[in-house]
Amino acid sequence: MKCSLCSLDIEVTKSGWDKGNNPQPIREPSARCCDWCDKNLVIPLRIRMIQNRNQLSGKAADFIAARALPSNAFDGGKSHDNK
Ligand SMILES: [Zn+2]
Repeated sequence: MKCSLCSLDIEVTKSGWDKGNNPQPIREPSARCCDWCDKNLVIPLRIRMIQNRNQLSGKAADFIAARALPSNAFDGGKSHDNK
């Protein structure tokens, strides 16, 4: 299974889970993302949205999601720092 954010393979965990993580709010929950993207993209964005929740509408959240992604997030060809 491929990560919906970086297009790399989602690794199977020790417990046998191979569906990765929920990439909301960057993608629909039916899409999945790898641990690296979850830790480096999705969670920081969620924290930012929680901090700003009183000001954000859905469209503002989309805007921030686009801005929160590093420019190389969609290369797909590069491996992650922690590998
Ligand atoms: Zn990923």
